[in-house]
Amino acid sequence: MRSGNRFLDALPAAAAQALIAGDEPRELPFGSTLVRRDEKLRAIHFPVSGAISDIEEQPDGGAAETAAVGPEGLSGVELLLDVPNALLTRVIQTPTTAFAVPAERVLAVQREHAALGSLGRRYAAVMLRAGAITSACNARHVVTRRLARWVLRMADRLRSDEVVLTHDATSLMLGVRRSTVTQAMRDLQRSGTIAGARKGARIVDRSGLETLACSCYTEERALYDALYA
Ligand SMILES: [Zn+2]
Repeated sequence: MRSGNRFLDALPAAAAQALIAGDEPRELPFGSTLVRRDEKLRAIHFPVSGAISDIEEQPDGGAAETAAVGPEGLSGVELLLDVPNALLTRVIQTPTTAFAVPAERVLAVQREHAALGSLGRRYAAVMLRAGAITSACNARHVVTRRLARWVLRMADRLRSDEVVLTHDATSLMLGVRRSTVTQAMRDLQRSGTIAGARKGARIVDRSGLETLACSCYTEERALYDALYA
């Protein structure tokens, strides 16, 4: 049985079943904080739709999203690397449904099934690379192309052409002011690749949007395809 989460579906069936243990994925409250940096990780989350954002909070009160995890992965990989506390604050900025597997169960399954730790370590390596792609992206790629990348990624994660992107969340994601987000949204709408929707945007020309997006979109997608191949 497929769970809808690529990490779970790449594990041997017995390990995935031991993790899920008959649970159903549940909706994570929009706007909630799952865990704050340095707090004990009580669970690993495996999204089946939507995304969990990693937020780096800076001492001056500023914050930026450094990564987001959707159905291609899991949130809380530290636990599989013998790190019991969260390295980053994690928040829900888009409608998200996930399996929440308690930490004790994760550790018990890891002892029983070596495949969990092994895939977890390879996943962590992919996250390192994805972080490098995003950090170079933020430094070098113009905001409109970055926004196009984020709209595509979010659409993939929601398995829908319509994405929920508040200006606040988008501003955190791209590390730019809200006014810059508004301008970039307008540029994409003018290109005819997206249209405004009630809570965000709707993709109307996917291949056009892929052409506009920076190369980081396909580069990152290929990382996960290789991990789960
Ligand atoms: Zn980029």
